[in-house]
Amino acid sequence: MQLPVNRTEESFFHGISVPQEVQELRHRVRRFAERELGPAVAAMEEQPEDLSSFPATLVARMAELGLYRVPYGSHEGGDGLSTPMLAAAVVMEELAYYSNSIAVIYDCQCVLSGRVLQYATDELKMTYLPAIISGQKIACVAITEPDAGSDVSPTSVGTMAIPAEGGWRLTGRKRFIINAPVADLACVLCTIDGALSMVVVDLKQEGVTIPRPDRKLGMHACLTADIVFDGAWVPSGNLVWKEGKGLRIALAALTRGRIAVAASGVGMAQAAFDLSVHHMKSRRMFNRALAEMQHWQFRFAEHATHIAMARDLYYKAALRHDAGEEFPEPETSMSKYFGTQVAGDVARDAVQVHGGYGFMRRLGADDSVYGVERIYREAKGPEVYEGSNEILKWMIARQMFGR
Ligand SMILES: Cc1cc2nc3c(=O)[nH]c(=O)nc-3n(C[C@H](O)[C@H](O)[C@H](O)COP(=O)(O)OP(=O)(O)OC[C@H]3O[C@@H](n4cnc5c(N)ncnc54)[C@H](O)[C@@H]3O)c2cc1C
Repeated sequence: MQLPVNRTEESFFHGISVPQEVQELRHRVRRFAERELGPAVAAMEEQPEDLSSFPATLVARMAELGLYRVPYGSHEGGDGLSTPMLAAAVVMEELAYYSNSIAVIYDCQCVLSGRVLQYATDELKMTYLPAIISGQKIACVAITEPDAGSDVSPTSVGTMAIPAEGGWRLTGRKRFIINAPVADLACVLCTIDGALSMVVVDLKQEGVTIPRPDRKLGMHACLTADIVFDGAWVPSGNLVWKEGKGLRIALAALTRGRIAVAASGVGMAQAAFDLSVHHMKSRRMFNRALAEMQHWQFRFAEHATHIAMARDLYYKAALRHDAGEEFPEPETSMSKYFGTQVAGDVARDAVQVHGGYGFMRRLGADDSVYGVERIYREAKGPEVYEGSNEILKWMIARQMFGR
Protein backbone atom coordinates (compact mmCIF):
# COMPACT_ATOMS: atom_id res chain seq x y z
CA MET A 1 0.00 0.00 0.00
CA GLN A 2 1.40 3.39 -0.96
CA LEU A 3 0.95 6.69 0.83
CA PRO A 4 -1.37 8.44 1.44
CA VAL A 5 -2.93 6.27 4.13
CA ASN A 6 -4.64 7.55 7.26
CA ARG A 7 -2.25 9.81 9.11
CA THR A 8 -1.97 8.88 12.76
CA GLU A 9 0.02 11.92 13.85
CA GLU A 10 -3.02 13.89 15.08
CA SER A 11 -3.85 11.15 17.63
CA PHE A 12 -0.32 10.97 18.98
CA PHE A 13 1.10 14.46 18.90
CA HIS A 14 -0.39 17.60 20.39
CA GLY A 15 1.94 20.49 19.69
CA ILE A 16 1.11 23.12 22.26
CA SER A 17 1.79 26.79 21.53
CA VAL A 18 2.57 26.14 17.87
CA PRO A 19 1.97 29.43 16.04
CA GLN A 20 -1.04 29.51 13.74
CA GLU A 21 1.21 30.53 10.81
CA VAL A 22 3.20 27.29 11.21
CA GLN A 23 0.05 25.17 11.38
CA GLU A 24 -1.22 26.80 8.19
CA LEU A 25 2.12 26.28 6.48
CA ARG A 26 2.10 22.59 7.48
CA HIS A 27 -1.31 22.13 5.82
CA ARG A 28 -0.23 24.04 2.70
CA VAL A 29 2.92 21.92 2.25
CA ARG A 30 0.96 18.75 3.00
CA ARG A 31 -1.51 19.54 0.21
CA PHE A 32 1.36 20.00 -2.26
CA ALA A 33 3.14 16.85 -1.03
CA GLU A 34 0.00 14.70 -1.18
CA ARG A 35 -1.07 15.87 -4.62
CA GLU A 36 2.17 16.44 -6.48
CA LEU A 37 5.07 14.79 -4.67
CA GLY A 38 3.51 11.55 -3.41
CA PRO A 39 2.31 10.29 -6.81
CA ALA A 40 5.73 10.97 -8.38
CA VAL A 41 7.98 9.37 -5.75
CA ALA A 42 8.11 5.69 -6.71
CA ALA A 43 8.99 6.39 -10.35
CA MET A 44 11.35 9.21 -9.40
CA GLU A 45 13.37 6.95 -7.12
CA GLU A 46 13.71 4.25 -9.79
CA GLN A 47 15.44 6.56 -12.27
CA PRO A 48 19.18 6.19 -12.88
CA GLU A 49 21.13 8.76 -10.88
CA ASP A 50 22.02 11.15 -13.67
CA LEU A 51 21.15 14.68 -14.73
CA SER A 52 17.96 13.62 -16.48
CA SER A 53 16.56 12.22 -13.22
CA PHE A 54 16.82 15.47 -11.23
CA PRO A 55 13.23 16.37 -10.21
CA ALA A 56 13.43 19.86 -11.73
CA THR A 57 9.65 20.30 -11.99
CA LEU A 58 9.08 19.65 -8.27
CA VAL A 59 12.01 21.87 -7.34
CA ALA A 60 10.51 24.66 -9.46
CA ARG A 61 7.04 24.05 -7.96
CA MET A 62 8.47 24.55 -4.45
CA ALA A 63 9.77 27.92 -5.65
CA GLU A 64 6.36 28.84 -7.13
CA LEU A 65 4.72 27.95 -3.83
CA GLY A 66 7.16 30.25 -2.04
CA LEU A 67 8.65 27.49 0.11
CA TYR A 68 12.24 28.76 -0.24
CA ARG A 69 11.09 32.06 1.31
CA VAL A 70 10.10 30.36 4.58
CA PRO A 71 13.42 30.59 6.51
CA TYR A 72 13.98 34.30 5.79
CA GLY A 73 12.95 37.63 7.25
CA SER A 74 10.96 40.11 5.17
CA HIS A 75 14.02 42.42 4.93
CA GLU A 76 15.78 39.53 3.10
CA GLY A 77 12.91 38.88 0.71
CA GLY A 78 11.50 36.08 2.88
CA ASP A 79 8.15 35.44 4.52
CA GLY A 80 9.11 37.23 7.75
CA LEU A 81 7.50 34.56 9.94
CA SER A 82 7.82 34.84 13.71
CA THR A 83 9.36 31.34 13.97
CA PRO A 84 11.22 30.79 10.67
CA MET A 85 13.36 27.86 11.85
CA LEU A 86 10.37 25.96 13.20
CA ALA A 87 8.49 26.71 9.99
CA ALA A 88 11.35 25.47 7.77
CA ALA A 89 11.67 22.31 9.91
CA VAL A 90 7.95 21.64 9.53
CA VAL A 91 8.34 21.98 5.74
CA MET A 92 11.14 19.41 5.93
CA GLU A 93 8.97 17.00 7.94
CA GLU A 94 6.10 17.26 5.47
CA LEU A 95 8.36 16.80 2.42
CA ALA A 96 10.27 13.87 3.98
CA TYR A 97 6.99 12.11 4.76
CA TYR A 98 6.85 11.49 1.02
CA SER A 99 10.46 11.85 -0.09
CA ASN A 100 13.67 12.53 1.79
CA SER A 101 15.33 13.29 -1.56
CA ILE A 102 13.11 16.32 -2.01
CA ALA A 103 13.48 17.32 1.65
CA VAL A 104 17.26 17.36 1.44
CA ILE A 105 17.24 19.30 -1.83
CA TYR A 106 15.10 21.89 0.00
CA ASP A 107 17.51 21.83 2.97
CA CYS A 108 20.59 22.53 0.81
CA GLN A 109 18.82 25.10 -1.34
CA CYS A 110 17.50 27.41 1.34
CA VAL A 111 18.19 26.23 4.90
CA LEU A 112 21.97 25.65 4.65
CA SER A 113 23.22 27.91 1.86
CA GLY A 114 20.95 30.78 2.85
CA ARG A 115 22.29 30.62 6.39
CA VAL A 116 25.84 30.95 5.05
CA LEU A 117 24.78 34.01 3.05
CA GLN A 118 23.30 35.63 6.16
CA TYR A 119 26.93 36.19 7.23
CA ALA A 120 27.84 37.82 3.92
CA THR A 121 28.02 41.51 3.02
CA ASP A 122 24.73 43.01 1.81
CA GLU A 123 26.18 43.13 -1.69
CA LEU A 124 27.10 39.43 -1.77
CA LYS A 125 23.82 38.46 -0.14
CA MET A 126 21.83 40.45 -2.69
CA THR A 127 23.80 38.89 -5.57
CA TYR A 128 22.69 35.37 -4.61
CA LEU A 129 19.89 35.27 -2.02
CA PRO A 130 17.03 36.55 -4.23
CA ALA A 131 18.00 34.02 -6.91
CA ILE A 132 18.01 31.18 -4.34
CA ILE A 133 14.69 32.22 -2.82
CA SER A 134 13.04 32.50 -6.23
CA GLY A 135 14.51 29.16 -7.34
CA GLN A 136 16.30 30.80 -10.31
CA LYS A 137 19.61 29.44 -9.06
CA ILE A 138 20.34 26.12 -7.37
CA ALA A 139 22.75 26.21 -4.44
CA CYS A 140 24.88 23.69 -2.59
CA VAL A 141 27.15 23.68 0.43
CA ALA A 142 30.54 22.02 -0.03
CA ILE A 143 32.33 21.18 3.21
CA THR A 144 33.31 17.49 2.94
CA GLU A 145 36.40 16.29 1.03
CA PRO A 146 37.76 12.82 0.22
CA ASP A 147 39.95 12.98 3.35
CA ALA A 148 37.98 15.41 5.50
CA GLY A 149 34.46 14.54 6.70
CA SER A 150 33.87 14.51 10.44
CA ASP A 151 37.21 16.24 10.93
CA VAL A 152 37.24 19.55 9.07
CA SER A 153 40.19 21.10 10.87
CA PRO A 154 42.49 23.42 8.88
CA THR A 155 45.09 20.67 8.54
CA SER A 156 42.53 18.22 7.08
CA VAL A 157 40.84 20.54 4.58
CA GLY A 158 42.82 20.51 1.34
CA THR A 159 40.79 23.00 -0.71
CA MET A 160 42.84 26.15 -0.83
CA ALA A 161 42.24 29.71 -2.08
CA ILE A 162 45.45 31.24 -3.36
CA PRO A 163 45.59 35.06 -3.52
CA ALA A 164 45.45 36.57 -7.03
CA GLU A 165 44.83 40.10 -8.30
CA GLY A 166 41.28 41.06 -7.11
CA GLY A 167 40.50 37.75 -5.40
CA TRP A 168 41.64 34.14 -5.21
CA ARG A 169 42.17 31.05 -7.34
CA LEU A 170 40.57 27.98 -5.78
CA THR A 171 42.08 24.47 -5.96
CA GLY A 172 40.86 21.25 -4.35
CA ARG A 173 38.16 18.57 -4.38
CA LYS A 174 34.87 18.35 -2.48
CA ARG A 175 32.92 15.10 -2.06
CA PHE A 176 29.30 13.84 -1.64
CA ILE A 177 27.87 17.31 -2.38
CA ILE A 178 24.08 17.34 -2.67
CA ASN A 179 22.82 19.31 -5.71
CA ALA A 180 26.38 19.61 -7.13
CA PRO A 181 25.49 18.22 -10.60
CA VAL A 182 22.75 20.84 -11.06
CA ALA A 183 23.98 23.70 -8.87
CA ASP A 184 24.84 27.21 -10.07
CA LEU A 185 26.75 28.19 -6.94
CA ALA A 186 28.48 26.59 -3.98
CA CYS A 187 29.33 27.84 -0.51
CA VAL A 188 32.80 26.31 -0.14
CA LEU A 189 34.84 25.73 3.01
CA CYS A 190 38.51 26.25 2.16
CA THR A 191 41.71 27.59 3.68
CA ILE A 192 43.15 31.04 3.00
CA ASP A 193 46.69 31.37 4.35
CA GLY A 194 46.02 28.28 6.49
CA ALA A 195 42.82 29.66 8.09
CA LEU A 196 39.44 28.05 7.44
CA SER A 197 37.31 30.43 5.40
CA MET A 198 34.01 30.35 3.51
CA VAL A 199 33.69 31.58 -0.08
CA VAL A 200 30.83 31.61 -2.57
CA VAL A 201 31.86 30.12 -5.91
CA ASP A 202 30.12 30.39 -9.26
CA LEU A 203 30.12 26.79 -10.54
CA LYS A 204 29.43 27.70 -14.17
CA GLN A 205 33.00 28.70 -15.01
CA GLU A 206 36.25 27.23 -16.31
CA GLY A 207 38.24 25.65 -13.52
CA VAL A 208 35.21 23.79 -12.10
CA THR A 209 34.50 20.17 -13.01
CA ILE A 210 31.64 18.04 -11.69
CA PRO A 211 32.24 14.32 -12.31
CA ARG A 212 29.28 12.01 -12.86
CA PRO A 213 26.81 11.71 -9.93
CA ASP A 214 27.38 9.11 -7.19
CA ARG A 215 25.17 6.02 -7.06
CA LYS A 216 23.72 5.79 -3.57
CA LEU A 217 21.89 3.30 -1.33
CA GLY A 218 18.79 5.52 -1.36
CA MET A 219 17.59 9.08 -2.03
CA HIS A 220 18.18 8.55 -5.75
CA ALA A 221 16.28 11.66 -6.84
CA CYS A 222 18.72 13.95 -5.09
CA LEU A 223 22.08 13.93 -6.83
CA THR A 224 25.42 14.03 -5.05
CA ALA A 225 28.84 14.36 -6.70
CA ASP A 226 32.37 15.62 -6.26
CA ILE A 227 33.25 19.20 -7.20
CA VAL A 228 36.79 19.66 -8.52
CA PHE A 229 38.32 23.15 -8.43
CA ASP A 230 41.35 23.76 -10.60
CA GLY A 231 42.10 27.47 -10.41
CA ALA A 232 38.42 28.52 -10.22
CA TRP A 233 38.00 32.28 -9.86
CA VAL A 234 36.70 33.71 -6.57
CA PRO A 235 36.40 37.53 -6.58
CA SER A 236 37.39 39.21 -3.31
CA GLY A 237 33.76 40.22 -2.67
CA ASN A 238 32.78 36.53 -2.49
CA LEU A 239 34.50 35.92 0.83
CA VAL A 240 31.81 35.43 3.50
CA TRP A 241 32.34 37.53 6.69
CA LYS A 242 36.15 37.39 6.90
CA GLU A 243 39.16 35.09 6.65
CA GLY A 244 39.33 32.56 9.48
CA LYS A 245 35.54 32.48 10.07
CA GLY A 246 34.84 29.49 7.84
CA LEU A 247 34.26 26.89 10.54
CA ARG A 248 32.14 29.29 12.60
CA ILE A 249 29.89 29.92 9.56
CA ALA A 250 29.75 26.22 8.68
CA LEU A 251 28.70 25.32 12.23
CA ALA A 252 26.01 28.02 12.24
CA ALA A 253 24.63 26.69 8.95
CA LEU A 254 24.86 23.10 10.18
CA THR A 255 22.98 24.02 13.36
CA ARG A 256 19.98 24.99 11.25
CA GLY A 257 20.60 22.05 8.94
CA ARG A 258 20.63 19.60 11.85
CA ILE A 259 17.29 20.82 13.17
CA ALA A 260 15.91 20.49 9.64
CA VAL A 261 17.37 16.98 9.24
CA ALA A 262 15.89 16.01 12.64
CA ALA A 263 12.50 17.03 11.27
CA SER A 264 13.09 15.00 8.10
CA GLY A 265 13.77 11.98 10.33
CA VAL A 266 10.41 12.52 12.02
CA GLY A 267 8.72 12.74 8.62
CA MET A 268 10.22 9.45 7.44
CA ALA A 269 9.46 7.72 10.73
CA GLN A 270 5.85 8.93 10.61
CA ALA A 271 5.40 7.67 7.05
CA ALA A 272 6.84 4.22 7.86
CA PHE A 273 4.64 4.14 10.97
CA ASP A 274 1.43 5.08 9.14
CA LEU A 275 2.06 2.55 6.38
CA SER A 276 2.64 -0.14 9.01
CA VAL A 277 -0.50 0.68 11.03
CA HIS A 278 -2.53 0.47 7.83
CA HIS A 279 -0.95 -2.87 6.90
CA MET A 280 -1.35 -4.34 10.39
CA LYS A 281 -5.06 -3.53 10.41
CA SER A 282 -5.73 -5.18 7.06
CA ARG A 283 -3.34 -8.14 7.01
CA ARG A 284 -4.88 -11.26 8.56
CA MET A 285 -3.33 -14.54 9.66
CA PHE A 286 -4.24 -17.23 12.20
CA ASN A 287 -7.83 -15.87 12.12
CA ARG A 288 -6.90 -12.43 13.32
CA ALA A 289 -5.39 -9.20 12.16
CA LEU A 290 -1.68 -8.56 12.58
CA ALA A 291 -2.73 -5.54 14.66
CA GLU A 292 -4.14 -7.89 17.31
CA MET A 293 -0.74 -9.39 18.03
CA GLN A 294 0.67 -7.93 21.18
CA HIS A 295 4.27 -8.13 20.00
CA TRP A 296 3.56 -5.61 17.23
CA GLN A 297 1.23 -3.54 19.43
CA PHE A 298 4.06 -3.04 21.91
CA ARG A 299 6.65 -2.36 19.20
CA PHE A 300 4.48 0.31 17.59
CA ALA A 301 3.42 1.82 20.93
CA GLU A 302 7.14 2.34 21.56
CA HIS A 303 7.62 3.78 18.07
CA ALA A 304 4.66 6.18 18.56
CA THR A 305 6.27 7.41 21.78
CA HIS A 306 9.69 7.85 20.16
CA ILE A 307 8.25 9.75 17.19
CA ALA A 308 6.41 12.14 19.54
CA MET A 309 9.61 12.64 21.56
CA ALA A 310 11.64 13.28 18.40
CA ARG A 311 9.09 15.85 17.22
CA ASP A 312 9.15 17.58 20.62
CA LEU A 313 12.94 17.76 20.48
CA TYR A 314 13.15 19.40 17.08
CA TYR A 315 10.34 21.85 17.99
CA LYS A 316 12.29 22.80 21.12
CA ALA A 317 15.61 23.23 19.29
CA ALA A 318 13.89 25.29 16.57
CA LEU A 319 12.00 27.52 19.01
CA ARG A 320 15.17 28.22 21.02
CA HIS A 321 16.90 29.16 17.77
CA ASP A 322 13.98 31.38 16.75
CA ALA A 323 14.21 33.04 20.18
CA GLY A 324 17.71 34.20 19.25
CA GLU A 325 20.07 31.42 20.37
CA GLU A 326 22.52 30.78 17.56
CA PHE A 327 23.60 27.36 18.85
CA PRO A 328 20.73 25.87 20.85
CA GLU A 329 22.51 22.89 22.39
CA PRO A 330 22.11 20.17 23.46
CA GLU A 331 18.68 20.06 21.78
CA THR A 332 20.07 20.53 18.25
CA SER A 333 22.42 17.55 18.54
CA MET A 334 19.85 15.50 20.47
CA SER A 335 17.11 16.17 17.95
CA LYS A 336 19.26 15.31 14.92
CA TYR A 337 20.69 12.08 16.27
CA PHE A 338 17.41 10.95 17.85
CA GLY A 339 15.13 11.95 14.97
CA THR A 340 17.24 10.18 12.37
CA GLN A 341 17.79 7.12 14.58
CA VAL A 342 14.03 6.82 15.16
CA ALA A 343 13.50 6.97 11.37
CA GLY A 344 15.86 4.03 10.90
CA ASP A 345 14.32 2.05 13.77
CA VAL A 346 10.71 2.52 12.64
CA ALA A 347 11.61 1.83 8.99
CA ARG A 348 13.35 -1.43 9.95
CA ASP A 349 10.25 -2.66 11.81
CA ALA A 350 8.02 -1.39 9.01
CA VAL A 351 9.85 -3.64 6.54
CA GLN A 352 9.60 -6.56 8.99
CA VAL A 353 5.89 -6.18 9.73
CA HIS A 354 5.14 -6.04 5.99
CA GLY A 355 6.80 -9.48 5.64
CA GLY A 356 7.84 -10.25 2.05
CA TYR A 357 5.92 -7.22 0.77
CA GLY A 358 8.18 -5.02 2.88
CA PHE A 359 11.24 -6.23 1.00
CA MET A 360 9.73 -5.62 -2.45
CA ARG A 361 10.58 -2.51 -4.41
CA ARG A 362 7.78 -3.22 -6.89
CA LEU A 363 5.69 -6.40 -7.10
CA GLY A 364 6.07 -8.07 -10.51
CA ALA A 365 2.53 -9.52 -10.48
CA ASP A 366 0.62 -6.23 -10.34
CA ASP A 367 3.19 -3.41 -10.14
CA SER A 368 2.25 -2.54 -6.57
CA VAL A 369 4.68 -0.54 -4.44
CA TYR A 370 4.70 -0.72 -0.62
CA GLY A 371 7.12 2.14 0.04
CA VAL A 372 8.71 0.93 3.27
CA GLU A 373 11.90 -0.48 1.70
CA ARG A 374 12.49 2.96 0.13
CA ILE A 375 12.12 4.67 3.51
CA TYR A 376 14.45 2.08 5.07
CA ARG A 377 17.14 2.96 2.51
CA GLU A 378 16.50 6.71 2.68
CA ALA A 379 16.69 6.77 6.48
CA LYS A 380 20.34 5.66 6.53
CA GLY A 381 21.79 8.78 4.87
CA PRO A 382 20.68 11.31 7.51
CA GLU A 383 22.37 9.27 10.26
CA VAL A 384 25.64 10.14 8.46
CA TYR A 385 25.28 13.59 6.89
CA GLU A 386 25.31 17.06 8.49
CA GLY A 387 27.30 15.67 11.42
CA SER A 388 27.26 11.91 11.89
CA ASN A 389 25.26 10.71 14.89
CA GLU A 390 28.48 9.76 16.71
CA ILE A 391 29.79 13.32 16.33
CA LEU A 392 26.48 14.63 17.70
CA LYS A 393 26.64 12.33 20.73
CA TRP A 394 30.16 13.68 21.26
CA MET A 395 28.70 17.22 21.23
CA ILE A 396 26.12 16.18 23.85
CA ALA A 397 28.83 14.57 25.98
CA ARG A 398 30.76 17.86 25.89
CA GLN A 399 27.89 19.45 27.80
CA MET A 400 28.58 16.95 30.59
CA PHE A 401 32.34 16.70 30.57
CA GLY A 402 33.52 19.84 28.73
CA ARG A 403 35.78 19.74 25.72
C1 LIG B 1 23.82 11.27 1.14
C2 LIG B 1 24.90 12.18 1.62
C3 LIG B 1 24.83 13.53 1.31
C4 LIG B 1 25.84 14.41 1.73
N1 LIG B 1 25.78 15.72 1.37
C5 LIG B 1 26.80 16.56 1.69
C6 LIG B 1 26.78 17.93 1.26
O1 LIG B 1 25.84 18.40 0.59
N2 LIG B 1 27.82 18.72 1.59
C7 LIG B 1 28.89 18.26 2.33
O2 LIG B 1 29.80 19.03 2.59
N3 LIG B 1 28.92 16.97 2.75
C8 LIG B 1 27.91 16.11 2.45
N4 LIG B 1 27.94 14.80 2.87
C9 LIG B 1 29.08 14.32 3.62
C10 LIG B 1 28.80 14.05 5.09
O3 LIG B 1 28.61 15.23 5.81
C11 LIG B 1 29.97 13.19 5.61
O4 LIG B 1 29.85 11.92 5.00
C12 LIG B 1 29.96 13.07 7.11
O5 LIG B 1 30.33 14.30 7.70
C13 LIG B 1 30.95 11.99 7.60
O6 LIG B 1 32.20 12.16 7.04
P1 LIG B 1 32.94 10.94 6.30
O7 LIG B 1 32.00 10.35 5.32
O8 LIG B 1 34.24 11.43 5.80
O9 LIG B 1 33.16 9.86 7.44
P2 LIG B 1 34.35 9.85 8.50
O10 LIG B 1 34.58 11.22 9.01
O11 LIG B 1 35.50 9.11 7.90
O12 LIG B 1 33.71 8.97 9.66
C14 LIG B 1 33.59 7.56 9.57
C15 LIG B 1 32.88 7.06 10.82
O13 LIG B 1 33.63 7.40 11.97
C16 LIG B 1 32.77 7.96 12.95
N5 LIG B 1 33.49 8.89 13.81
C17 LIG B 1 34.08 10.04 13.48
N6 LIG B 1 34.58 10.65 14.58
C18 LIG B 1 34.26 9.87 15.63
C19 LIG B 1 34.49 9.94 17.04
N7 LIG B 1 35.14 10.97 17.58
N8 LIG B 1 34.03 8.93 17.82
C20 LIG B 1 33.38 7.88 17.26
N9 LIG B 1 33.14 7.75 15.95
C21 LIG B 1 33.56 8.73 15.14
C22 LIG B 1 31.71 8.68 12.13
O14 LIG B 1 30.56 8.87 12.90
C23 LIG B 1 31.49 7.70 10.99
O15 LIG B 1 30.56 6.73 11.41
C24 LIG B 1 26.93 13.91 2.49
C25 LIG B 1 26.97 12.55 2.82
C26 LIG B 1 25.98 11.70 2.41
C27 LIG B 1 26.05 10.25 2.78
